[in-house]
Amino acid sequence: MNFPDVEIQTGWGLNLKAKGFSTADLSVVVAIAFERKGKQSVRGVIPSGLGRSYGDSSLNSGGYRFDSSFYRELIIDATTGTADCGSGVTIRELEFASHLKGFLPVVVPGTSFVTLGGAFASDIHGKSQQFDGNFSDHVSSISVIDDQGYERKFVSGSEEFNATAGGMGLTGFISRLEIKLKKVEIPVIYQREVRVKNLSEMLSTLEGLEAKYPYTVAWIDLSGKYQGRGLVSGGRFALEHEVAGAKKLNFSFEKSTKVKSVPFLGYFNFMRYPSIRAFNEFWYRKPLKTGLSSFPKFMHPLDSIGNWNQIYGKAGFIQYQLVIPDESREVLHQILTLLKKHKASSFLTVLKKFGHEGLGYLSFPMPGWTLAMDFASDSRNLTQLIRELDKLVISSGGRIYLTKDSTSTPDSIEVMYKDLEKWKSIKKKMDPSNFWQSDQSRRLNLC
Ligand SMILES: Cc1cc2nc3c(=O)[nH]c(=O)nc-3n(C[C@H](O)[C@H](O)[C@H](O)COP(=O)(O)OP(=O)(O)OC[C@H]3O[C@@H](n4cnc5c(N)ncnc54)[C@H](O)[C@@H]3O)c2cc1C
Repeated sequence: MNFPDVEIQTGWGLNLKAKGFSTADLSVVVAIAFERKGKQSVRGVIPSGLGRSYGDSSLNSGGYRFDSSFYRELIIDATTGTADCGSGVTIRELEFASHLKGFLPVVVPGTSFVTLGGAFASDIHGKSQQFDGNFSDHVSSISVIDDQGYERKFVSGSEEFNATAGGMGLTGFISRLEIKLKKVEIPVIYQREVRVKNLSEMLSTLEGLEAKYPYTVAWIDLSGKYQGRGLVSGGRFALEHEVAGAKKLNFSFEKSTKVKSVPFLGYFNFMRYPSIRAFNEFWYRKPLKTGLSSFPKFMHPLDSIGNWNQIYGKAGFIQYQLVIPDESREVLHQILTLLKKHKASSFLTVLKKFGHEGLGYLSFPMPGWTLAMDFASDSRNLTQLIRELDKLVISSGGRIYLTKDSTSTPDSIEVMYKDLEKWKSIKKKMDPSNFWQSDQSRRLNLC
């Protein structure tokens, strides 16, 4: 058995770092569990995928990560429209393989570089959340490996399934998933973009567009007057006559999945207020897109640049993603006022409407509005801004997304997640020795 060397672990935000170990070998994991028997002081293990969670949910200082790179089987049954997948298969691979058979996954995130295990553990949402719900809504069963190496299958509707959906890897290692796919005749998107002058117009445009375009999302210009001006984008599957004369267009899967890299620019943070402001101004005025797009390009626009997270330099950045209930939509205006007060600048600010509560006890979505903002970690007064944002979120009955989180406290999570106690009791049942743990779970007293 090979025991690995110590490594530096980071999430996508590059803001938090941990010194720990990684393994893809189940026998190492079982050996750690044996060694740890009765000794709670020995750190446990956290499952990990491609490290696209932003903060510390797949970091484990002084302990191990168990990555899913050996769990790579992918079998698509075109008669039933289901995929039997290993947890290390990526969304990108599932999209590619299923489109060849006339199907696509129903829920995909903003990047395709995410494993299916990571997608289930965060119970991710996509651009059609208001219609299609979350990732776990389209999974019929999962298999979970415990600290003894035993694999058990849990079907949708069981409490173990609901505790693992959105459970941030803390109930065990997901090894397999059975996923229900969507039949798609033409895997091409017809998209439309609309420029809006302020937040009220943005909310009504998002709501108006979704009748024809079920995939919706908006980009907000977070600079200057902070009035919520921006671009609203909608998409739907293209119709036959729309693609008939468009053979030369670059909307094939193969062409649109190429990845370039940002050159190494030292450890400098390029995302300061003036550059972000200039970018926002430019982006707000860019020509609007209307017409055909490949599915990957529309769903994962940033995937063409592999390492864009490095533009924030050595200190990295924090993504703060919140959701507030629909009846509290006024709070979005208060958030813009607060951001203006702090002169906060965010390179990428995304607003989206949600329509469904997740089935996981720790699933993030609820009917309402979700807002995601990227802040450089070394921005002035960031801690104060985040505490004020937390207060607004809590008072409106909302919550923050655990897979993006680096800053929450145990108290705030307890108020935000109403089913936390229930989740904890099932975590105890599935993992009595508290073997599965991460820096985040210790920071938030989740275990
Ligand atoms: C550019 C970008 C865009 C994004 N867009 C969206 C979006 O639109 N919607 C959305 O919901 N999210 C989005 N995300 C977040 C991303 O989908 C989640 O963080 C996802 O969980 C990352 O998966 P991963 O394979 O990288 O897992 P990691 O980051 O390695 O791990 C994430 C969590 O999953 C757990 N986990 C991983 N594998 C397993 C396993 N096999 N068994 C049990 N637990 C496991 C880990 O313990 C950890 O808690 C985005 C992220 C980026 C970087």
